Amino acid sequence: MSLSRLREQFRQALADPDLAAPYERATATARAKRAAAAAELPDYEEQRQKAADARREAIDHLDALVERFREAFTRDGGTVHHAADAEEARSLVKRILSERGARTVVKAKSMLSEEIALNEDLIASGWEVHETDLGEFIVQIAGQRPSHITAPALHLDRVDIGRIFHEKLGVDYTEDPVELATIARRLLRERFLQADAGISGANFLVARTGQIVLLENEANIRMCTTLPPLHIAVVGVEKVIAEVDDLGPLLSVIARSATGQKLGAYTSILGAAGPPERHVVLVDNGRRQLAQHPRKREILTCIRCGACLNACPVYERIGGHAYESAYSGPIGALLGPHHLGTDHGRELPFASSLCGACSEVCPVKIDIPELLRLERERYVETGGADVGERLAWWLWSKVMTRPRLYRLLARVGRGILQGPGIIAEGSSVLRDWTDGRKLPIPSSTSFIDQWKHQGGATTRTNPIWDRTRAQRALEATRKAKRSWAASRGRAGRGKDRKP
Ligand code: SF4
Repeated sequence: MSLSRLREQFRQALADPDLAAPYERATATARAKRAAAAAELPDYEEQRQKAADARREAIDHLDALVERFREAFTRDGGTVHHAADAEEARSLVKRILSERGARTVVKAKSMLSEEIALNEDLIASGWEVHETDLGEFIVQIAGQRPSHITAPALHLDRVDIGRIFHEKLGVDYTEDPVELATIARRLLRERFLQADAGISGANFLVARTGQIVLLENEANIRMCTTLPPLHIAVVGVEKVIAEVDDLGPLLSVIARSATGQKLGAYTSILGAAGPPERHVVLVDNGRRQLAQHPRKREILTCIRCGACLNACPVYERIGGHAYESAYSGPIGALLGPHHLGTDHGRELPFASSLCGACSEVCPVKIDIPELLRLERERYVETGGADVGERLAWWLWSKVMTRPRLYRLLARVGRGILQGPGIIAEGSSVLRDWTDGRKLPIPSSTSFIDQWKHQGGATTRTNPIWDRTRAQRALEATRKAKRSWAASRGRAGRGKDRKP
């Protein structure tokens, strides 16, 4: 996707009158609930720090913890598989299903399965796959993609859902939420009972005990993971945590951040025992490589609560589909390029105002704006910027390092901006900018002219010397940033704990 295509999609989303209002309402409600739930816990910030530390420690010792999980899970009779990428993960799942003769699958909500396009592949290969989370069920029968990490059908209201049920399931039209939920429940109950296998993701994998932790509000995950004779959990390797004790702070902040609840309605902690067969497919898909990066490894600490989406002033106006990525919103702009291929969604980091609202609410304190900035840097370094943009910045640097040229052009620019039809008379050629915000008419004289007029002294400096000094300052800033990042990486690790 090019930047111009991304802009076009955002423009279309902004022009859709049915989109912005429901999103703004839903995200505003979610924000208020999250804020109230956080405020009600006196030590919320302490829990948040503990949750962030637990996740950072897990990423610091990723390979050791994954191995420990494998040992514990296998000891209890389960099977762990490793998939290097999306294709291998899909093949492994199909092989396990085929070997057991499983043809009908019930699925719990899993963003990873969206990432690796598992449903599409299974269905294309002849499997019957039924989503069982209500939101996922709705978007599946509507033939759409989820538009939010935790609320897949956020873009649909009850009228839309009533219409979809009527058209796709052949039931009488109703927009009553209880009736709609009852229709889905009746249908899904049959599917749970008839399924050959259940597929889920996982919120966490506990390395010491070999347990799979799953959070939900509808109990469909419990059905998927316990009713069919075969359960396959398809999980990103980064979901591992060291200890059961880490669950305390993590469970406390995740539900508050996602839905404003104290705790999810159902928390399942599953060992390998349960259905006759339980498998975990651990998916890398770029995660270990990301874990090597001194700063970007922080992305892997995400617990997929969706709070950053609800806080984002961009997401709340355009929704998730305009991102054209399995993961939308601020965290999606970071995850997409790493898990979906370097060319996929590499423009998404530009879909942010970098206002910082996302990192303020992130329960594991991910510095999302700084990471987005790093992704933008990568975009430019890998040739993402087009010729026009590169030329513009080249010209800008030439002008900014030549004071005389700068003053001359500033004088010309002031004259143009004061001219008729630019800003003063409202019929501005800068309308795209001035329609949304005020642009003051520039003064007719520059600051330096006014300064001199008032008797202030000025010093003429050698522009060449200035450029050298600017270069030195830039290098010093970069060096300081590198050492700060390195020390931050060290400081974030657990101090008293061993992997
Ligand atoms: S980045 Fe933070 S706020 Fe966003 S989904 Fe991940 S954990 Fe939640």
